[in-house]
Amino acid sequence: MDESLPTVRNIDHKYIVAEKEGKMEKEKLLLHACCAPCSSYVLEYLEGRYDITVFYYNPNITEVTEYEKRVNEITRFINEAPFAKEVKFDEGKYEPELFFEISKGLENEPERGKRCYKCYELRLDETARYAKENGFDLFTTTLSISPHKNAEWLNEIGVRLSEKYEMDYLYSNFKKNNGYSRSIELSKEYNLYRQNYCGCIYSKAESIKREQNKNKI
Ligand code: SF4
Repeated sequence: MDESLPTVRNIDHKYIVAEKEGKMEKEKLLLHACCAPCSSYVLEYLEGRYDITVFYYNPNITEVTEYEKRVNEITRFINEAPFAKEVKFDEGKYEPELFFEISKGLENEPERGKRCYKCYELRLDETARYAKENGFDLFTTTLSISPHKNAEWLNEIGVRLSEKYEMDYLYSNFKKNNGYSRSIELSKEYNLYRQNYCGCIYSKAESIKREQNKNKI
């Protein structure tokens, strides 16, 4: 193995501290997050292992009111949860035009289809770039906690970007160990807003159609 290549780390390994300039310090993790419910369990799980900054970069949330609602909820959660008291928060630019650009021709794709691959890539690319530019040691995303998200794709993209930006990527599948159920429990405990669609206008339309079909039965 070429030692100069960035390392892909497995979430099961305990990388708690690293020696930096002679001092033992937690490594700086940039954690891309999509919403408060998904972040809840991930922060509880990673707490104590890393020096964590949550990075909110989600141009896929195409309606501004929804975007603002989710930002407010995630910052409230970070301020309220005792296990997140050391966690920092950075917000990326809100640029839905980039999401519409990558979605061209893929508007009718179902959730978990090709549009979603591009959407993961857009968000993770900016996360890796920001991590590199701001002196983080590694990056990852909360997205793999959702049963609607393809963890294999997320990790494949993460590994590719870790090479592009020469930045470590934390391999993840936060669904494991009942991560998703725990996020629902935490959402109830903190009374978190749980949206009923993923984020883009296409997923909202899909969700409305699902509800209408349910009501017909
Ligand atoms: S359904 Fe979700 S992951 Fe897929 S493109 Fe829309 S916002 Fe992105």
